[in-house]
Amino acid sequence: MSDDSCAVDCDVSNLVRLEERRQLDQISLVASENYSSPAIRAFEGSIFADKNAEGYPGKRCVSGCEYADQLEILAIERAKSAFGCEHANVQAMSATIANFAIMTELFQPSDRLMAMRLQDGGHLSHGAPFHASGRNFRWCFYGVSRTDEQLNYDEVRSIALENRPAAIICGGSSYPRLIDYEKMDQIAREVGALLWVDLAHTAGLVAGRAIPSPFPYADIVTTSTHKTLRGPRGGGLILCKSSFAQQIDRSIFPGLQGAPKMDLIAARAVLLAEVQTSRFQEYAKAVLLNAKALERGLVYAGATLVSGGTSSHLLLLNLLRCGVTGNEVETSLLEARVVANKNSIPFDTIPPSKAGGLRIGSAALTTRGFDEAQFFELGVMIAKVITSASNHARIADLRSFVKQNTQGLPLFNRKWVVGGREAAE
Ligand SMILES: *Cc1c(COP(=O)(O)O)cnc(C)c1O
Repeated sequence: MSDDSCAVDCDVSNLVRLEERRQLDQISLVASENYSSPAIRAFEGSIFADKNAEGYPGKRCVSGCEYADQLEILAIERAKSAFGCEHANVQAMSATIANFAIMTELFQPSDRLMAMRLQDGGHLSHGAPFHASGRNFRWCFYGVSRTDEQLNYDEVRSIALENRPAAIICGGSSYPRLIDYEKMDQIAREVGALLWVDLAHTAGLVAGRAIPSPFPYADIVTTSTHKTLRGPRGGGLILCKSSFAQQIDRSIFPGLQGAPKMDLIAARAVLLAEVQTSRFQEYAKAVLLNAKALERGLVYAGATLVSGGTSSHLLLLNLLRCGVTGNEVETSLLEARVVANKNSIPFDTIPPSKAGGLRIGSAALTTRGFDEAQFFELGVMIAKVITSASNHARIADLRSFVKQNTQGLPLFNRKWVVGGREAAE
């Protein structure tokens, strides 16, 4: 950052500088974090930031929107082609807001909605009692089975048959396995429910064609833009069948939000071109391979993983057997400059404030350029921190590994930069 910015506001620019140093010196294994490309960052905060474009293209509440209209249409068309869906809304400020907007527009408080239990990997916007979704609708939940800690579709079906939900929501924030959307669709059809996929975590893997898509099964798909999708933070996308288009658009505006943030829509448009390139497909594949390498390292050195491993970018460590809490491991890892988060695990016996698990993911560090060998070694070293009783030496080892491997390493590796021509194709 230049000294000019200090002349404008030294307090804020110092904090920006410190945060930049922190991000460069630490490594993020936070499964919900990533780094967006320099191109995306360049359009966040562009001149569109100040434009009020309340409404939708061709139907704005204020004039002077001719370029805002073109921009939003571009983002919508790119979203449709990136995900192969019939309709897209690019205005939601976040996936959480998108979820609540849709619920309020499509369902009555007397309707019952069905989702994955929070402790088993769901998300708080899917009916947690302390979230507006939980307070305003009736809910029933499905979860993982005790035997393999994965979804049991027969059980999901019987819960659906018993409760007759208006919608079945699938997708979560700490479920390390893929969801069988075809089976979920069969269950939803049998009970007359909508199939709603919350793709927040795995949207980038779907767009990068590394894992199966929820389309054509899902009626509605919601997602964040900043996790595996590697886009700007503070952005939600809603993708749906055309029969839901009007209701979906109404749910966001005028249903819940005011004017959209047009510079973020510009950044999302850039993102939605990036994810359609072969470079992004390579990235998505690397995220999966790296998560597997991390899994191998962890298991090799004695760590226990919920469901035995991962099929995505996300891994959930079961710490109960090692006699440590998620809170303690989070603190130890931070000493070694590794950022991750404590997380409840299925059948947890420790309260969420401490938690019996730790959630990690490979998306952000893959963006920085870590390869499979580095992820394997990282897995081994993290497992050693967790499993050793006196772990100071292990923490020191991990800290020097991080230092060595991040020296001069940018946040967004040049190998993932998409050339202008490639993105425009
Ligand atoms: C992260 C997450 C969200 C929330 O996304 P935001 O855009 O940060 O609001 C919603 N649903 C699921 C399943 C998530 O994992």
